[in-house]
Amino acid sequence: MRQGFTEATPLRPVEFVNLRARFGTGDFGPPVRVLIGSHYDTKIFPSIRFVGANDGGSSSGALLEMARVLALRPGLAKSVELVFFDGEEAVQDYTATDGLYGSRYYAREITRRQRPSSRPQAVVILDMIGDPDLKVQIPSDTPRQLAEGLFAAAKEAGTSAHFGWMATPITDDHAPFQREGVPAIDLIDLDFAPWHTSRDTMEQVNADSLEIVGRTALLFVERHLPAP
Ligand SMILES: [Zn+2]
Repeated sequence: MRQGFTEATPLRPVEFVNLRARFGTGDFGPPVRVLIGSHYDTKIFPSIRFVGANDGGSSSGALLEMARVLALRPGLAKSVELVFFDGEEAVQDYTATDGLYGSRYYAREITRRQRPSSRPQAVVILDMIGDPDLKVQIPSDTPRQLAEGLFAAAKEAGTSAHFGWMATPITDDHAPFQREGVPAIDLIDLDFAPWHTSRDTMEQVNADSLEIVGRTALLFVERHLPAP
């Protein structure tokens, strides 16, 4: 389902489109337990050819593979919505009104349209997960219960070495949900030298890293999400 909207940016009004994906009938009415999200836009640089293979591409690819894996497990798949967010990158620089366009819109729509009892129990954002030297760090303001669940899932998956805490909060697509009161966690590896340079190309994206994050995230969603 396309979730389109137009928003003012520092340069001009822009039409954004979030893509929402659910398993089954295409009925987006019933509530889901969890949103798993990735931004699929890439930052626009006038001066370089920016590919964004890791920053935007890696997590979007992981979501596509998650769709395939989830389809093998209809019971689990029905509890999840996959969201490809547009406009994560700032048109100029991150401010309260530049960047995170898609997630801000989606989070506001939840508050506007869904009763608290039918809102998602958690939002799981994936971002920049392709680095061969994978060190996913969750922001310091991650709700404690989500963090504990993630680390329990990593332990069960045997991937604990790749997951830890960040020293600070971070501006990313999880933040608008947190502000609207929906618990959210951001699985991001910010320690990536080619970030926002022309060197963020396919050579930077490691299949094993995508697999580690994808498998751990699905295990987290299936078995280690705290009860509502
Ligand atoms: Zn970026």
